[in-house]
Amino acid sequence: MAVRNGQQFLAGLRDGREVWYDGKRVDDVTTFAEFNAAIHSIAALYDLQHDPRHREVLVTEIPEIGLAGRAFEIPRTLDHLRLKREAYMIWARANCGMVGRSPDFLNVMLAALAAKRGFFAEASPAGADAMVNYWKHVAKNDLFLTHALLDPQLDKGKLRHQQSDPGICLRVVDENADGLVLSGIKRIATAAPYADELLVWPFPPTFQAGEEAYANVFAVPMNSKGLKTICRVSYANHGQRRDFPLSSRFDEMDATVVFDNVLVPWDRVFVNQNVPLLNRMYRETRMRELTAHQTNARLEVKLGFVYALVQRLAEAQGLASRPEIMEMLGEAVVRIEMIRNTTHSAELQATLDPENGVLYPDLPALQVGRAYGPLVYPDLVQMVRRMGGGALVQVPVSMDEFDSPVGADIERALRGAEMSGVAKTQLLKLGWDICGSEFGARHELYEQNYAGERSALMAGIQREYARKGEWLDYLDNFLAAL
Ligand SMILES: Cc1cc2nc3c(=O)[nH]c(=O)nc-3n(C[C@H](O)[C@H](O)[C@H](O)COP(=O)(O)OP(=O)(O)OC[C@H]3O[C@@H](n4cnc5c(N)ncnc54)[C@H](O)[C@@H]3O)c2cc1C
Repeated sequence: MAVRNGQQFLAGLRDGREVWYDGKRVDDVTTFAEFNAAIHSIAALYDLQHDPRHREVLVTEIPEIGLAGRAFEIPRTLDHLRLKREAYMIWARANCGMVGRSPDFLNVMLAALAAKRGFFAEASPAGADAMVNYWKHVAKNDLFLTHALLDPQLDKGKLRHQQSDPGICLRVVDENADGLVLSGIKRIATAAPYADELLVWPFPPTFQAGEEAYANVFAVPMNSKGLKTICRVSYANHGQRRDFPLSSRFDEMDATVVFDNVLVPWDRVFVNQNVPLLNRMYRETRMRELTAHQTNARLEVKLGFVYALVQRLAEAQGLASRPEIMEMLGEAVVRIEMIRNTTHSAELQATLDPENGVLYPDLPALQVGRAYGPLVYPDLVQMVRRMGGGALVQVPVSMDEFDSPVGADIERALRGAEMSGVAKTQLLKLGWDICGSEFGARHELYEQNYAGERSALMAGIQREYARKGEWLDYLDNFLAAL
């Protein structure tokens, strides 16, 4: 099966997986109300692959695989990079950039890992083959992956095996002819209840001697025996779309995954209890060069969407050309363009890796998006709060109230500058979903965290800055010439 549609994606989820919500096991995730919004937002992305308007960008022929989603392609030319970006943006536009873990994110991560077969082969040719074959398997079957990198937030002053319960963090508990057996906990797996498979690679890359049992990279289907998914409370509002324009449609679920003696077959083990290799993986597989290209493209769509809302809210009050409002909107524009230019400039400065012939977008350019995304998204949300003002809490319970006996009063109470009360209320309802709802709060948290814990992120940027030597030479030469 290749290049699935939405129905095929849904059918794949009825597989006996063990998903828990509010202490109860979910029988069928596809009919469970709390996942409905998220699942259909993903199904819509698969359907887009069959839309004649987008098919050429979203689907491509990959030599080792056949027809597959664009994100699976290993980029070797500038055109590949451009088409990848366009594909990411088509999918992001389908959900206002509000689905952070759309399938393309992990699809391109897998492409990156497979492109660095040599890295995995250092430890074991079998692990390397498993990695490449897994990329092919996922691409050929057009599967949707989630990933879980982190251990629970335990005592950060101790290593994993030194915790009061060394079995909390996910680790190998047995090894046999069929594969590794693992028990323990990983978080946070966004989309886990309705993903097909789970990719695990522990992070951050600061493992130490003694933590070998925890240093594994592997993948398992979500219906693996002994694998439990435990969900957070849903933020999906089940009302009409017009009342909750985003949270009724795009609330992706976050979850904790618990392994209880889960067997990982050898052909799904990519790194086996190898601390030095795991610590080098994040950087040396160059996965960020390809994943940040996707995440920054998606963020551009989200910022553009929120900016447009702020502009319309300003117009609704006849304020759009006031100098202080123009200044605020200008600040928003600068933020969108900064993020937009990370992807475009990274493509223009892309370099070919002689080891595997892959054209990698420029990492320092992409890191600007990973570092500033967490700051600029909350800035734009704050602009929604500022521009909406008290009217954000003046909206009626339901848009249907405009047709009720008090409809005319509400219409007058919410009327805007050359804008009906209905139209202005619709903007405010959208604004509240972005700046006031639980869904909105989760999105700020997401943007602040998706690229990792901030101090580690920034220290990594400094440590790996490719142009550092160039600047230091410039300074030293200047000083030497004094
Ligand atoms: C909505 C959402 C979705 C997510 N989805 C996914 C997903 O799909 N897959 C996935 O793997 N992860 C996911 N994550 C996890 C995300 O990667 C982490 O939240 C992020 O890396 C931060 O790590 P943490 O939550 O463990 O915070 P921590 O690293 O525990 O940080 C908590 C606080 O402690 C501070 N701190 C941490 N270490 C130190 C230290 N050594 N010294 C001083 N202060 C310190 C931090 O600065 C911060 O203030 C998601 C997170 C969110 C919020």
